Order: sequence, then C-alpha cells, then structure tokens
Amino acid sequence: MADISFVCPQCNQELEAPTELAGDIVECPSCETQLEVPGAEVSQPAEPPSEAPNPSSYPATPSVENACSNCKKTMEVGAVLCLKCGYHAKLGKTIDTSFE
Ligand SMILES: [Zn+2]
Ligand SMILES: [Zn+2]
Repeated sequence: MADISFVCPQCNQELEAPTELAGDIVECPSCETQLEVPGAEVSQPAEPPSEAPNPSSYPATPSVENACSNCKKTMEVGAVLCLKCGYHAKLGKTIDTSFE
C-alpha cells in the first residue's frame, strides 16, 4: 500500500499521507495549512458515457424514387414539376415554366 503523494498548495511542500487518510483533512507540517488529502489514483477521469446514436432511430431513406417520366431526371420526392424539362407529372404534360 503506497502513500499518497501530494503537494501543499500553500507552501509547495511535498507531503505524503497513508491511503487511509484519503479525503481526510491533515495539517501541513510546514505551513500548518489544513489540507484535504487527495484520493488515491485520482488521475483516472471517468469516461463520459458514449452517446452513440441509435441507427434505428434514423428515418430510413425513402426508397421511392421520384423521377420525371418525361426526361427520367430524378426529382425531389413529392415534386410534381420537373425542373429539368418542365414536365408536370400531375398534368401529364410539359408546361412552359418561363412565364412570369
Ligand atoms: Zn504547506
Ligand atoms: Zn423532366
């Protein structure tokens, strides 16, 4: 069982305390400051819990491809008007999109 080595923050005196005194208040023999004995092997920070995103919580990529039936250009899902050729899926014809 090794002693706990620590340094007095007041006078920088190197101190040692038995591990049983970890967390206890001791008096620095050099400057008589009351110090808390640090816990043994405190240099191991607790690892934060890994917050791995649950892949199943992700919305599945829509498998339905929306493509223009006129020019076969892939369109945004839900879009009815092809921005490439001006074909309107609902109307079933190419419309002039250059109107103001
Ligand atoms: Zn001291
Ligand atoms: Zn098109």
